[in-house]
Amino acid sequence: AIRKAGWNWDNSYTKLPDLFYSKLHLNLVSSPKLVIFNTSLAESLGLNVQALQNEESTAMFAGNHMPEGGLAIAQAYAGHQFGHFTMLGDGRALLLGEQMTPDGERFDIQLKGSGRTPYSRGGDGRAALGPMLREYIISEAMHALGIPTTRSLAVVTSGDTIFRETELPGAVLTRVAASHLRVGTFQYAAHWGTREDLRTLADYTLQRHYPEAVDDDNRYLSLLREVVRQQAALIAKWQLVGFIHGVMNTDNMALSGETIDYGPCAFMDVYNPATVFSSIDIQGRYAYGNQPHIGAWNLARFAESLLPLLHDEQKQAIRLAEDEIANFHELFEQHWLSGMRAKLGLFNEEQQDQSLVDDLLRLMEQYQADYTNTFLALTSEKLEDNALFGATEFTRWQERWQVRRSRQQGSYASSQELMRSSNPVLIPRNHRVEEALEAAVQQGDLSVMKRLLEALASPFEHASEKAEYCQPPVLSGRAYRTFCGT
Ligand code: AMP
Ligand code: MG
Ligand code: MG
Repeated sequence: AIRKAGWNWDNSYTKLPDLFYSKLHLNLVSSPKLVIFNTSLAESLGLNVQALQNEESTAMFAGNHMPEGGLAIAQAYAGHQFGHFTMLGDGRALLLGEQMTPDGERFDIQLKGSGRTPYSRGGDGRAALGPMLREYIISEAMHALGIPTTRSLAVVTSGDTIFRETELPGAVLTRVAASHLRVGTFQYAAHWGTREDLRTLADYTLQRHYPEAVDDDNRYLSLLREVVRQQAALIAKWQLVGFIHGVMNTDNMALSGETIDYGPCAFMDVYNPATVFSSIDIQGRYAYGNQPHIGAWNLARFAESLLPLLHDEQKQAIRLAEDEIANFHELFEQHWLSGMRAKLGLFNEEQQDQSLVDDLLRLMEQYQADYTNTFLALTSEKLEDNALFGATEFTRWQERWQVRRSRQQGSYASSQELMRSSNPVLIPRNHRVEEALEAAVQQGDLSVMKRLLEALASPFEHASEKAEYCQPPVLSGRAYRTFCGT
């Protein structure tokens, strides 16, 4: 039945040296029940949705059944968590294998919340239903926004209770990723492996994500360069939609350039660069405005781990690495500014564009304007009655913007079209996500979440029935908080 379902497994990661992973036994759960399944993702993976609707598949998504051709492993990695280096590894994840799609693409199929592994340390290896559904919603929303991300194929409840501050229903998420190679995988190899282990890992990563660079003169330098490029582009995309990752530890930075690890992430409502949602990020290390700097910091850790491969002489290796890392901010700024130009309907480039954007953001901060809705209002030209739009400083800014907009080739209509395709109508607002999770977890009612997912699937579409999802939260005076590791 599994084969009819379209599974086509490979296990290339298990051909890496033994230190990179541990083989796992299954940790059975009591009574798996499918809660949500991503039909369109399944189809894009070459799976047959009909043939997946059976107990065997649900058991597989719960980690109770190993598919033929899969090979259960936990990956080893290290990482800097809030700046401190430590050994980590998949403490609650199980890689079933890699699905080879009919198009010849390779995707990791990983279970999250599937039980203890040799890397669990004190943890129970389990996950709660709420956070797994939350990852499902936000990762799928990110995908629809055009942001590279891991995706969510299914969530099953386990029938078991897990113990956090309270008792919670346990669940397992099936995550689909270009790979789970991360900066922390290289830190692990550099710290605990031989130079050959490191080289093998680097060659594997190149082959898997940057095959066009494998014949380069210094292919490990090319690897560093490509990862820097991907991250500059990715983090710029986060900034442009107001996404705050929340735990940008080096183990949560994927070498594929996908967003990974949806723990305490959230979207910003009111524009403020200091915004932090994570309850454990006391210092604001991973605040919205800090994300590009942390990106560069993490990439420097990646570069350090690659040093032995970059050049035989350490001094030379360091110089090469520093040059690549130094490019990050420039690359990031280019992506960010061209994204901002698009958000303001600008096709061409002018020197003063940076200050035009900065001035708007400064006003948004000053008047506590909603980030998404401000750009949306500029797009649809319906400036509601709010503090920002009522300010004379804003009116002056708007005049500058209109003059700037008229100083370009291309029609007003095409500029408008550019804005519509660059400013989302919908983001997964925290209060709507919470409402959907509450209905699902407390009442077992998935309909609220399914409606939300449907709206989030086309975030650039202007449709009146979506208007309710655009409302920012009513200010309660209590800051929204997110949590890791639940
Ligand atoms: P994260 O903050 O999600 O990136 O997780 C950091 C580390 O903690 C990773 O090694 C996870 O596998 C591990 N971890 C998180 N939650 C659990 C859990 N409930 N049991 C065991 N390990 C966990
Ligand atoms: Mg992680
Ligand atoms: Mg996590």
